[in-house]
Amino acid sequence: MTRLVLLGPPGAGKGTQAVRICEARGLQHLSTGELLRAAVEAGTELGVEARVFMDAGNLVPDQLVSDLVAERLRALGDDSGFLLDGFPRNVGQAASLAEQPRGALDCVLYLRLEREEILQRLLARGRSDDTEAVINNRLDVYARETSPLVEHYEEQGLLKTIDGLGTMDEVASRIKDALRDCGAEASA
Ligand code: ADP
Repeated sequence: MTRLVLLGPPGAGKGTQAVRICEARGLQHLSTGELLRAAVEAGTELGVEARVFMDAGNLVPDQLVSDLVAERLRALGDDSGFLLDGFPRNVGQAASLAEQPRGALDCVLYLRLEREEILQRLLARGRSDDTEAVINNRLDVYARETSPLVEHYEEQGLLKTIDGLGTMDEVASRIKDALRDCGAEASA
């Protein structure tokens, strides 16, 4: 069973690559951003609570997100592999993942991209939380909260760094190479 985390700044192309990896390997795609947006859309209690944080480009409180992920992991069959996209986003979330029964990871794929390139991509994308002020805050939050995970997972020997610059196909092929030597079984 393959258990992966896809790490990287907003706008690095995590969502796109996540879908491709999951299709190619028969993995469940768990995107906390997507799950949270769906909750907002559906007007659930979680969505109402999460919305103010998301609109400002801040992290939704750890407890809410960790509970959401724990619930999703429990719902997966014992044999299904997964790819977490957008989680963990800070050291506390990484600790809570490590405590999950299925939280031991094979590999953390780190999609690296420079701030200038990120800014251009996000401004071009135009999601409702993609205004310049909110983007800048998301990038600051990333630098402060999420980027320490690079070192965290490096120390655990799980990190594979992938250059996020290039076409979708180029990046996908780099990811494929990285997965080949991280011990994740290929399937589908
Ligand atoms: P991006 O990759 O552009 O940051 P995401 O879809 O991953 O977009 O996340 C959108 C928003 O959802 C974040 O700005 C944050 O408010 C919230 N969010 C997503 N994942 C998490 C998480 N693991 N912890 C806290 N907040 C999260």
